[in-house]
Amino acid sequence: MNAVAERRRAPALDVAVVGGGMVGAAAALAMAKAGFATALLESRAPQPWSAADEVDLRVVGLAPSSIALLDELGVWTSIRDARSGPYAHMHVWDGESGAAIDFDAAAEGRDLLGHIVENNLVQWTLWQALEAAGVRRLCPAEVRGIDSREDRVTLQLADGENLSARLVVAADGAASPLRGMAGIATRGRDYAQRAVVAHVVTERAHERTAWQRFLPAGPLALLPLADGRSSIVWSLPDGEAQRVLALDDAAFMQALGVASDFRLGRVVSTTKRAAFPLRLQLAESYQAERLVLLGDAAHAVHPLAGQGVNLGLRDVTELRGVLVEARTAGRDFAAPHVLRRYARRRRSADTLDARGFDALARIYAWQAPPLVVARGLGVRLLDRWSPLKRQLARHAAGL
Ligand SMILES: Cc1cc2nc3c(=O)[nH]c(=O)nc-3n(C[C@H](O)[C@H](O)[C@H](O)COP(=O)(O)OP(=O)(O)OC[C@H]3O[C@@H](n4cnc5c(N)ncnc54)[C@H](O)[C@@H]3O)c2cc1C
Repeated sequence: MNAVAERRRAPALDVAVVGGGMVGAAAALAMAKAGFATALLESRAPQPWSAADEVDLRVVGLAPSSIALLDELGVWTSIRDARSGPYAHMHVWDGESGAAIDFDAAAEGRDLLGHIVENNLVQWTLWQALEAAGVRRLCPAEVRGIDSREDRVTLQLADGENLSARLVVAADGAASPLRGMAGIATRGRDYAQRAVVAHVVTERAHERTAWQRFLPAGPLALLPLADGRSSIVWSLPDGEAQRVLALDDAAFMQALGVASDFRLGRVVSTTKRAAFPLRLQLAESYQAERLVLLGDAAHAVHPLAGQGVNLGLRDVTELRGVLVEARTAGRDFAAPHVLRRYARRRRSADTLDARGFDALARIYAWQAPPLVVARGLGVRLLDRWSPLKRQLARHAAGL
């Protein structure tokens, strides 16, 4: 249909979600289940997930708030039962001072702190659920342009088609083409680091614990997988990451053992490795005319706190809440003041978290002896200060 014909009548679609990663797919499902006529546009077909396949190299730690949303959307049980690594403890220690902080689910009155799951399992399960929920999936579909009017927003697709909706939800990742098209700037900094990832077998069991050692060059996390292996996320300066990627397996496993202080014993086997560049990036605004940003399109954070997708899924919950509230009150759910409510709440929450993670990255980079001593004292104090520790744990859980 051409653009003129499209504009003659009200758009049939309420919401067009652009980007079908974990956050965009969850957003599309949440909007459809809340009764909005929804389409999802994605440029690359998702990779089907199969239990017979090797565990995807990209995994995330899902916090209770994310699990609650996925459960509400009817997909959590399938994800959990397919393959997920529950963890009940977290042990974080300073490679320089040795000071440690422990989080324990039982101390919080919960069974678990979270689950480690494969990105493509979450994405694929959500995609499977979209059709039954009535979401129109357009894939491959690449957005090339956007035109916002008083009553609608029209997306121009690479194949020449146009698609109009009352609201566009941009969940098109950290490089977000839509954010650029909407003229929204970002600020942040390049960490000049890469996160090296792999799955490894260690001599000792992971004990359903997420281990993280802070080293001056960057943090090393060992996350418990369902099959007993650990998934590592090793943040290193760019050059060092390249060097580690180029090592043969034996040298890599030895370097990893040293970096983890052999906490889980020697590393006895490894998968192939991959690396992802790290930056802090916050959109100046989460909103433009009839458009909102969510997920990495709005905020990209250091993986040291394992919160990127958890923040994105909190965006989804918040957005759904404000849209439903406006619709129930009989108002235009994509009116600027409605979108502003979402944008204000989420941007301030995300900014606080992103700055907090950034501060942690800076503090753990300190190497001057008096600063290392001060950091060690601070960590030990925090570990004993139960109310503050509990507050931190609840915050990370999204409770
Ligand atoms: C090493 C590492 C470890 C991490 N660990 C954790 C963790 O433990 N816990 C956690 O919460 N987070 C973690 N994260 C962060 C998490 O992976 C991201 O926050 C999350 O994947 C972002 O999802 P998204 O859906 O917002 O974006 P993406 O996954 O980037 O999806 C964006 C989608 O948009 C599509 N797209 C782009 N442009 C267009 C266009 N023009 N038209 C149509 N489609 C388009 C893309 O194809 C893509 O599918 C980690 C990140 C890294 C790098």
